[in-house]
Amino acid sequence: MTASADILIIGGGVIGSSIAFNLLQDGFKGRILVIERDPSYQFASSALAMGGVRQQFMSTVNIRMVQYSLKVLEHFPESQFRQRGYLLLATESNCEKLRRRHDIQKSLGAECEMLDVSDVRRLVPELRSDDLVGGLFGPKDGYVDPRATLRAFRSRAEQLGAVYVSDEVEKIEAGYAQAVKSGRIGAPRIVIAAGAYSGVVAKLAGVEVPVTPVRQQLFRCALPRPWAYEFPVVIDPCGVHWRSSPHNEIVIAKTNPNELPGLRFGCDLDRFHQDFMPPLIHRLPEFRDLKLVFGWGGLYEMTPDHNGIIDRIPDIEGLYIAAGFSGHGLMMSAATGKLMSELIRTNKFETVDASVLSFSRFARNELFWDEAMI
Ligand SMILES: Cc1cc2nc3c(=O)[nH]c(=O)nc-3n(C[C@H](O)[C@H](O)[C@H](O)COP(=O)(O)OP(=O)(O)OC[C@H]3O[C@@H](n4cnc5c(N)ncnc54)[C@H](O)[C@@H]3O)c2cc1C
Repeated sequence: MTASADILIIGGGVIGSSIAFNLLQDGFKGRILVIERDPSYQFASSALAMGGVRQQFMSTVNIRMVQYSLKVLEHFPESQFRQRGYLLLATESNCEKLRRRHDIQKSLGAECEMLDVSDVRRLVPELRSDDLVGGLFGPKDGYVDPRATLRAFRSRAEQLGAVYVSDEVEKIEAGYAQAVKSGRIGAPRIVIAAGAYSGVVAKLAGVEVPVTPVRQQLFRCALPRPWAYEFPVVIDPCGVHWRSSPHNEIVIAKTNPNELPGLRFGCDLDRFHQDFMPPLIHRLPEFRDLKLVFGWGGLYEMTPDHNGIIDRIPDIEGLYIAAGFSGHGLMMSAATGKLMSELIRTNKFETVDASVLSFSRFARNELFWDEAMI
């Protein structure tokens, strides 16, 4: 039997699920099928993320998208959104940059403030602060439980009628997709929301989309003693950053600028000891007694300018894409779902003007830069 849907979404991660949820919540009456090849989400970036949510960006579109998403997350208790703030530490060397960043962010409407050292120490008293001159703080920012947030979007989409199918798409043409188990699935509209695999999935339609998988590693550690409060997301000038995690633990990240593109998931213990631990101990000496509990790697979905794509793909009638958020897709997932719903239903963006996140910018060689990438 040939399956069919009014809208077929390829990828049931947080972006695909948010698109399904928003379409149905916005009153779309047709049949929505979400096709997901990894229903346990073992390799989905949504489940492997750090969970940071910050409105501290340097472009209107990214700030507005997170502000919209933040409001949604505040009403999704399942996401376990902890608004503990985002604290970028300032030393003499990056202070001017952070001040400029503060002024631009503020002028674009982001909630943030410059702190002096005593304010920073009030937030995190155990920090070594003799080399600090202050910090840039986003008080409404924070972090979610990534897997719980994915579950929240998926279960809300299912409650409203979206149907999830465990299968893998292997070909796309105008009006239909071919899947391994389901065969041909007719659908006048198809959305690629396949995260780091979106470049590969677009190729199934014969389209080149510059989304490349790049591993990011995280480590979860037990704190050396019961900590009396939850950390904000603390970002050291060297790039190492951490946030609290339940059961008196923290999750730590530090982007490796030399990580090669590819489908790699493991973690590299040498990096933890040589690249993560020394700056952590420098910043918070008690961290020398952290106990490593678990390390993992997941895929960032990188575009050439590190910003997402929310658009129609002009080469193929009815084909859309929402992907390429390059490490900040979880925090933007609510807005991405809403914007894709608007694009599909009304042919335009209403909530936030996301036209700068067009697919055609790459072909025009008009990349869209936002300096605030971590
Ligand atoms: C270690 C790490 C830390 C991160 N930290 C943050 C953070 O702090 N804040 C933040 O906002 N973002 C963060 N991100 C980024 C964020 O996780 C992603 O931007 C976001 O989850 C992308 O969601 P997605 O639904 O597009 O992708 P995914 O969750 O990867 O979902 C895509 C799905 O598509 C499916 N799929 C692929 N190909 C096919 C096919 N042919 N047929 C059927 N299904 C297919 C896959 O199985 C997958 O489940 C982080 C990512 C990683 C890896």
